[in-house]
Amino acid sequence: MKKAAQRLDGSAARRLDGSAARRLGDSAEQRFLEILARLKHAYPDAHCELDFENAFQLTCATILSAQCTDVRVNMVTPALFARYPDAAALAQARQEDVEEIIRSTGFFRNKARSLIGMAQAVVADHEGKIPATMDALVALPGVGRKTANVVLGNAFAMNEGIVVDTHVARVSARLGLTRHTDPVRIEQDLMALTPRDDWALWSHLLIFHGRRICIARKPKCGECVLADLCPSAEV
Ligand code: SF4
Repeated sequence: MKKAAQRLDGSAARRLDGSAARRLGDSAEQRFLEILARLKHAYPDAHCELDFENAFQLTCATILSAQCTDVRVNMVTPALFARYPDAAALAQARQEDVEEIIRSTGFFRNKARSLIGMAQAVVADHEGKIPATMDALVALPGVGRKTANVVLGNAFAMNEGIVVDTHVARVSARLGLTRHTDPVRIEQDLMALTPRDDWALWSHLLIFHGRRICIARKPKCGECVLADLCPSAEV
């Protein structure tokens, strides 16, 4: 924690204007904990916005969520899960049938291939059950570290890492919590700052904030509870 705080003293704090820096004092760690507390207060119901009932469904939904909104994914998954309720069923699916169901999520050919390949590997290597370890998850077709973090954090309630999606990357950078653009490096910076028990929640908080206030095109800094802590605030 101390190391990350020192790093932030060098990067984020330098970008703070004089008045904000005075309010914050010298401690980047304090600033981070204040950000965390305020986001928890602002979004007490922050949660994964993909609909799912088990690890299999969440793995499928997360694969489908690449380059697609959660709202759109939630529109197609009921039909997908009705037809293919588990990995054994999806492993037997015809590519074109899956493509037809998931077409509106974009990149549907690749996603259908990933879904079926994932299911076949789960059947072949894990007795049809989604594995609950990072190594086993990222070995599945179509499953990268981000998807694995989503599944571990939300289906298995395990804090193994922090999900870094486009919202987490953008809001973290604006808040001066990372200088990196590579998701793995961003995740390392955030893991060093965030108490482990809050890893899964932290990504939900940043995603909620990024979707509602710190939006990509024009952040609503005037409505932001973090404005006095944020080196990028435009108020
Ligand atoms: S102050 Fe603006 S840039 Fe900073 S977190 Fe809030 S909305 Fe985003």
